Amino acid sequence: MHNLKQEVSLKSFNTFGFDVNCKGLIRIYSISDFQRFLNHSFKPFKILGGGSNILLTKNLNDYVVKNEIKGFDILEEDDYQIIVKVGAGEIWHQFVMWSLAHKLCGLENLALIPGTVGAAPMQNIGAYGVEQETAFLSLNAIQIETGESHTFSKEACHFGYRESVFKNKFKDQYFITHVTYCLLKGEQNLHTHYGAIQDVLNLKEIHKPSVVDIAEAVMDIRNSKLPNPKEIGNAGSFFKNPVISTTHYAKLKSKYPTMPNYPISSDAVKIPAAWLIEQTGFKGLIRNNIGVHKNQALVLVHYGSGDGNELLSLAKEIQNKVKTVFDIDISPEVNIW
Ligand code: FAD
Ligand code: NAP
Repeated sequence: MHNLKQEVSLKSFNTFGFDVNCKGLIRIYSISDFQRFLNHSFKPFKILGGGSNILLTKNLNDYVVKNEIKGFDILEEDDYQIIVKVGAGEIWHQFVMWSLAHKLCGLENLALIPGTVGAAPMQNIGAYGVEQETAFLSLNAIQIETGESHTFSKEACHFGYRESVFKNKFKDQYFITHVTYCLLKGEQNLHTHYGAIQDVLNLKEIHKPSVVDIAEAVMDIRNSKLPNPKEIGNAGSFFKNPVISTTHYAKLKSKYPTMPNYPISSDAVKIPAAWLIEQTGFKGLIRNNIGVHKNQALVLVHYGSGDGNELLSLAKEIQNKVKTVFDIDISPEVNIW
């Protein structure tokens, strides 16, 4: 294929900045590009967006297909909403900025999440009490086995907490080409109750926040707390927050009265994994070229010249320690290649 590069380093294609090679990198700019690609025998292959949710542990015996499908296509518009179909290779944060520039709401809490629009439904990205599924309408994807184009409704995607059908039943079976969202006009259904958003708004003396105010508050918090991958390699939260039974929670609570907790149903409680990791002493750890971020224990970091396997070993050590101390399993959110 004309845009195939052989034996490419993926160092600049993953936000951890690990230096591993793949057999070849192919950029895909359109549906027909991908269908042509499927007709060649470049197998096996992996799909890459912005590389902000992957941990590369070894040189890959795979080709890597980079999604570069662009474009914003307004399909419908009335007084209340806009339905927009977005190319999966668009940058998520630029899509959020596009929505704010068009005075649309729905994505403001999801500002500054790295990566592409096509990867957003993969793990149903979420932050500050909002998940992309709230605005999601449907997506188009090509089935790798047949080359056929399919449309998935919201129900068909089986979205959950950092989950979708594409991480489970249909793992590695579809190439997402476009995602369609419904964004609302006016300032509707705003979420300011989560994390530190309200504190930031209070500090700025903003009593009736606009969507732009909320997005700016979210960006301020993120910039102050999270390491910028351009400065310190990371993939955001390495682990998902575990959900435990109320019985298990009650036992732990008597031993750890300050343990933060968020009830999610009558018999289940979410415990912030960052707190568990901090309690087990890993926060701020620096070990050779890798470590645990000093401000956010859920973020494992790479300081440069390290190896993805070192980081994976540290992740396993953290999992074991949390299991021993709290009898809680924490599982990676990051995709391990
Ligand atoms: P990649 O890392 O390239 O890929 C992730 C997975 O999706 C891989 O399995 C890949 O094969 C698959 N994939 C990618 N594109 C496609 C496609 N078109 N079709 C089929 N499969 C595809 N996540 C959150 O949910 N909330 C946050 O607040 C958040 N904050 C973050 C902060 C930082 C600093 C960082 C580094 C990461 C953060 N993340 C967060 C994680 C990450 O940004 C998201 O998971 C993002 O959606 C990943 O997008 P990507 O394009 O980089 O995907
Ligand atoms: P935070 O505000 O310090 O909160 C710590 C944890 O408590 C979060 O994990 C969050 O769970 C939970 N939490 C806070 N307020 C809550 C509420 N009102 N109801 C239920 N749960 C609540 O977290 P942070 O680290 O600064 O992150 C802020 C937001 O950005 C979070 O939503 C987080 O998920 C998201 N984020 C995600 C990534 C990633 O890579 N996935 C990276 C950075 C930030 P949830 O995580 O379930 O929201």
